[in-house]
Amino acid sequence: MNDRSSTALAIPTNSNLTGMDHLWAGWRSTYITGAGDPEPDGCLFCRLPDQPDRESLIIARGHTAFTALNRFPYTTGHVMIAPFRHIADPGDLNDSERSELWESLVVAQRALQPAMSPDGFNLGANLGRVAGAGVPGHFHLHLVPRWEGDANFMTTVGGTRVIPEDLADTWEKLRAVLE
Ligand SMILES: [Zn+2]
Repeated sequence: MNDRSSTALAIPTNSNLTGMDHLWAGWRSTYITGAGDPEPDGCLFCRLPDQPDRESLIIARGHTAFTALNRFPYTTGHVMIAPFRHIADPGDLNDSERSELWESLVVAQRALQPAMSPDGFNLGANLGRVAGAGVPGHFHLHLVPRWEGDANFMTTVGGTRVIPEDLADTWEKLRAVLE
């Protein structure tokens, strides 16, 4: 038991981690400090659609799901796609939510490609607080553009907030591509 625990605790400081390992740890740390309350009335993903797009950083709204820039991005262009309904388990999504989440993902990726010319993407979801979800009550996908050689840079600045002007610029770029 002790051996298992110490092995698990040693993982974050292991310098042989891949970029993906760093990425998921990064989401966990930003969300613990950044987003907080999992209750429906305090839920980030329930609040965002009530705000104007420029303030919520929403880049696209569908019938059942929306896409927004992450205010605490892992890389520039880090977007999140969520259903409007407060659902924790992807198994509880209805058919239209499932199809629109995937369609929104495709649209976001196709917008990010010409807007930011990434070399690749990370796509994922954190289910449950133990898995790194900061808003475990509201299912959402992360789509994170990646560039050749960004891993070292990101390890250094992980957890640093991007200044609001950068987010506004990214929002403008993506909206321009989508319109
Ligand atoms: Zn919610």
